[in-house]
Amino acid sequence: MQSPARKQPQVIIVGAGFGGLEAAKKLACEDVRLRVIDRTNYHLFQPLLYQVATAALSPADIAAPVRAILSKCKNVEVILAEVESVDVEARKVRTKERVFDYDYLILATGARHSYFGHDEWEKLAPGLKSLEDAVELRRRILLAFEYAEKIEDEAAPVPARRVSAGLVRERAKTIARAWRRSAHERARDEHYRGRCASGPRIYSVSRENLGGRQHCVVRRKNAQRTG
Ligand SMILES: Cc1cc2nc3c(=O)[nH]c(=O)nc-3n(C[C@H](O)[C@H](O)[C@H](O)COP(=O)(O)OP(=O)(O)OC[C@H]3O[C@@H](n4cnc5c(N)ncnc54)[C@H](O)[C@@H]3O)c2cc1C
Repeated sequence: MQSPARKQPQVIIVGAGFGGLEAAKKLACEDVRLRVIDRTNYHLFQPLLYQVATAALSPADIAAPVRAILSKCKNVEVILAEVESVDVEARKVRTKERVFDYDYLILATGARHSYFGHDEWEKLAPGLKSLEDAVELRRRILLAFEYAEKIEDEAAPVPARRVSAGLVRERAKTIARAWRRSAHERARDEHYRGRCASGPRIYSVSRENLGGRQHCVVRRKNAQRTG
C-alpha cells in the first residue's frame, strides 16, 4: 500500500528586511512551502538611507527586488501585501485581499522610530526608516539649501540647522558633508550641547553609564564656502 503524500510544512515569513530575508535564504530550496510577505516588493538596505536623504545615492541604489533575490528556488512565493492581523490559534495570516494558512510563522516586521513621548517633534524632524522618508528628507534638505542661496539679508533667520544625538550624531556626519557642499554661508552649522527634553538620557532604555555620552547635540557652525 502506498503511503499518503506528505504535505510540505507551510512557512510564512512576514517582512523581507534583514531578518526576514536571512530566514528566507536559509529555508529557500528546503522541503517546505515558503511564502514571503512584504508590503514592498524590494529589500531595503536601511544603513544607506542617510546617503539617499543627502542626495549621495539614488533610491534604486539601496533597494533590491525580493523576487530576484529568492528566484533560484521553486518552493518560494513572494507576495506583495500588508499583513493586517495574525490569528495565532487558527494559524492564519490575514492581508487585505487574502488569508494564508501556516504551520510555522516568522514575524520580522522591523520597527518604526520613537519620539520618546514627543510625537509633535515628528513634523520638524521626520523619521528615516523607509525610502519614502529618505526622499522626503532629501527634498527638505535640498530646498533649505536652495532657500539659503537666495538670502541676501544677513539678519535673516538661518534656514537650516542640524540637530542630532547619541548614535544618530555619528550618522549626522553624512549630512555635514552635504552641508559643506552648500555654497552659501547662510546654511550654518553651530555647536551646542545640552540636555534632551525627554529626560536625562536620550535613550531611556540604555544603561545609565552610557548616559553621560548621550546628550542632545545641536550643531550650527559657519559652513565653508566651497564654490
Ligand atoms: C537609517 C538607518 C541606518 C542604520 N544603520 C545601521 C548600521 O550602520 N548598522 C547596523 O547594524 N544597523 C543599522 N541600522 C539598523 C538596521 O537597518 C535594522 O536593525 C534592520 O534593518 C532591522 O531588520 P529587520 O529585518 O528587523 O527589519 P527591517 O529591515 O525594517 O524589515 C522589516 C520589513 O518588514 C516589512 N513590513 C513591516 N510591517 C509589515 C506588514 N504589516 N506587512 C508586510 N510587511 C511588513 C517592511 O516593509 C520591511 O521590509 C540602521 C537603520 C536605519 C533606519
